[in-house]
Amino acid sequence: MSQNSLIVFTGPMFSGKTLALVNAGLRASYAQQEVQAFIPVAGLRNKKGRSGPPPKIIFTRIKTQNGEEAYIDFPVTAVSSLEELEDQIRHTSARAILSRTKVATFLFDEVQFLQQEAIPIIERMLDGEYARSITTRIFASGLDMDAWKKPFSVTLEMIARANEVYKFSAVCFSCGADAIFTQKIAGSANQRVEAGDSDIYEARCRQCHIIPE
Ligand SMILES: [Zn+2]
Repeated sequence: MSQNSLIVFTGPMFSGKTLALVNAGLRASYAQQEVQAFIPVAGLRNKKGRSGPPPKIIFTRIKTQNGEEAYIDFPVTAVSSLEELEDQIRHTSARAILSRTKVATFLFDEVQFLQQEAIPIIERMLDGEYARSITTRIFASGLDMDAWKKPFSVTLEMIARANEVYKFSAVCFSCGADAIFTQKIAGSANQRVEAGDSDIYEARCRQCHIIPE
């Protein structure tokens, strides 16, 4: 049996992290693995910003933003508590035990919104504590820094525990250079995690990025 693993996709907004996550999920489902995607409730967003549409639409919308369409045939659950998260992990693992491939693939989107207490759950997954007889594969995607260039500690914790880390860059909305920073252009000037899209955020390079005041 292959080993349990964690792969992290990180970078600024508009860098294709979620596309990479969805692609990993699609590949796993084509390979007939049990696939379950999670998005923290705090990360729910729609075109207007705040309130939450059904999570499946989020994945579809983020895909279409980059001009690509793919049918997502795995469950995407918006989790609001750690209990809910663990329940879902147990269910998916139980399905994997009964499956032919004996592989459970989990996708975590917007990990910067996760509570710090989710990290021990990730560790238990990697240690095989939810199901010993299957292979658990975790793919996680999240912002590495906020709009003030301050790292998100949950993302860093995931990176530290990862087998592989992919850092993506976006394209600077101002000059077209490679961009590794997220610029806040509207919304609250002191709210660190404010759900939004290109209505309040842009990707910016080091020269064009400005710390919000
Ligand atoms: Zn620039």
